Amino acid sequence: MTGELHRSRTNATVRGLSGIAAPPDRFTDQRVLLTGTRDVLASRNGAEMMRSAMLLLMRMTTDLTVAIPGGFDELAEGLAQVARDQAWERAPAFATMPVTEEGYAAILSVGGKASAALPLTVITSNGWLARVSSGSMAISQRCNQWNPVGALAAASLGAGEVFKRLLRLKPEHGQLLDGISFSLWDYGLSDDPGHHLPTEMETDLLVAGAGAIGNGVVHLLSQLPLKGRRRVLDVQTYGDENWGTCLRLTPTAAAARDEKATYLATIWGEGVEPVVGRIEDAEADAKWRAPKVVLCGFDNVEARYAVQDLWPDLVIDGAIGPRLECQVSAHPWSGEIACLRCIFELEHGEPAEHVQRRLTGLSVAALRQASRALSRQDVADAEPEKRNWLLGQIGKPICSVFEAARQFAGGDVAAGFRPSVPFVATISASMMVTELVRYLTTGDVGVEPRFFFSLLWGPQQGAHYPEDRHDDCQCSTRAHLIERVRAGRWY
Ligand SMILES: [Zn+2]
Repeated sequence: MTGELHRSRTNATVRGLSGIAAPPDRFTDQRVLLTGTRDVLASRNGAEMMRSAMLLLMRMTTDLTVAIPGGFDELAEGLAQVARDQAWERAPAFATMPVTEEGYAAILSVGGKASAALPLTVITSNGWLARVSSGSMAISQRCNQWNPVGALAAASLGAGEVFKRLLRLKPEHGQLLDGISFSLWDYGLSDDPGHHLPTEMETDLLVAGAGAIGNGVVHLLSQLPLKGRRRVLDVQTYGDENWGTCLRLTPTAAAARDEKATYLATIWGEGVEPVVGRIEDAEADAKWRAPKVVLCGFDNVEARYAVQDLWPDLVIDGAIGPRLECQVSAHPWSGEIACLRCIFELEHGEPAEHVQRRLTGLSVAALRQASRALSRQDVADAEPEKRNWLLGQIGKPICSVFEAARQFAGGDVAAGFRPSVPFVATISASMMVTELVRYLTTGDVGVEPRFFFSLLWGPQQGAHYPEDRHDDCQCSTRAHLIERVRAGRWY
């Protein structure tokens, strides 16, 4: 199985959905074509949709052809370079249009005429609009208002359509999208591209979690005019299994086990500080300053609690599920909107320490030093039946050993990793960054606290889930204390 680790999460997702679909045995070997039209590719949004779509599709199939109209040499060379850096096995094949459209399991086109006669999906984007059509209904080709967030959302929806085709999804369990124009700004169908991006936005920002969602978030932030302190926090290092879900992770960095925080800080840009550790470790450092806004891409409840316990002005959280579910939630300190502690409950109410001990077999003493690397002595001190498994984890931070143990226990024992696909993480990231821009430009949030949908059905079937603070949550019971701590901060 180790030879397939880099696609293990995609394969786990496919297996998890096999009850509602009829996927072929070699899901990731199906032929896919990515192409585009002159008018749309000539726009900045078009070029960015193309890049994002290629990054997403090459994680879904080993047999991707990228066909570009003649005269787009710069775009083609740029894409070929990205493809070489990012390819795990063979890089996508490049071709100049026109190419024959026969023999592909799915075709994704950045711009163009929708057609139900081919396995074709067309995407475009303009401002905050992400448009997609896999049927016969046309979508607007207007793409002049630059916005990387809309472009990534459109590419993500398009990749989701390709995934559903490759999956051979049964019609009672989901649908291909036909003539959808979705506004990230309004969370609904619209033809209004919305506000232009500002020329500058200033805040003190922390991206917490540099996994699949963190990759999508940083991919977007690196294209926005942000000023102020910018940090990326994660305690873990990348491994092969992350390549399939992390939009910007190269196989080289995965093989070298690069620190996640450092890797994404570099991608974000100059002056971005990596914080290698957990939130708790960072706070113990005398030089630590609390951020004003946190974009949280963690996938477990304990880490979300640690983020909420920073009590910043705003937490924006992204969440994803195994049936292509994605969610954004926003938790401003001012007002009455439910916090992350209100909406995420610990499993079974069991103390975190007990869960960690049960899953890893490690001693409590070792678990308390979560950012330290696992040693041979730790393995010798662990419960006998866990030692064999733990031997393979030596050298990793103890907290990632816990994460690996949790995933191992999650049921997908063969691959050892939970189901996840990158395009769900990137659409979640698009919604998170929309909320960030909304907050920095208007002072408001557009979710109170959350908006949720499944890509099986599409964003137009998404829904808001309003929720106020819980009376028995710390955000209510300790509000005065939290106010005092916040007032004592300096930035
Ligand atoms: Zn709360």
